[in-house]
Amino acid sequence: MTFDWNAHRFSGGVLALDLANTVIFRGDPQRSLDRFDDPNELPRFAEAAAIFRIGEWGNVQFHPPLSQKETEALIGIREVINSLFRSATREGSLQSGDLSTFLRLGSDLVCNEPEGRDLRLPNLSEKKRELSLGAAAFLSAMRLLDPARLERIKACPNCYWLYLDESRNRSRRWCDMNVCGNRAKARRHYNRNVKQAGNNHV
Ligand SMILES: [Zn+2]
Repeated sequence: MTFDWNAHRFSGGVLALDLANTVIFRGDPQRSLDRFDDPNELPRFAEAAAIFRIGEWGNVQFHPPLSQKETEALIGIREVINSLFRSATREGSLQSGDLSTFLRLGSDLVCNEPEGRDLRLPNLSEKKRELSLGAAAFLSAMRLLDPARLERIKACPNCYWLYLDESRNRSRRWCDMNVCGNRAKARRHYNRNVKQAGNNHV
């Protein structure tokens, strides 16, 4: 297994957007790839998310889906989180169809959580808790509906991932400066050199 759920894969900043970003290069059919096409990646993502999202969730264990039905529910909430917040970045508004699907699927996920689970967010206690990945992603996304956070959601111009820009003056341009930022810089450098080389030939 060479694929690594490293810090870069959690550039979204919150669980909801990290989940949406498990499809890479959305909107580019040539390069688009769903990491969950391999079902083995679901528990691996859940395990890594508990580590990278400790700031959001505290001490937590996310339960990956165990049945086909649960997997479909997780993919359903992932896709509607993506379309709801992606259209917010483009049109600056939430679409009624997406919002109603989001609330309906999220309600089902929360309803399926066993009694007694702690659904609060942000985390307010040190005690370790358990949550299904889908319900946790829904709760994470609920907080993004707050206008102060909603206006900080951006789409990376290189890879199309969604991320929450928590920088003080909202100046973050890339999902990850070290990956997409550097790729763009290298491309600009290359284009400049090609242009200069072209001019030399004239
Ligand atoms: Zn990117």
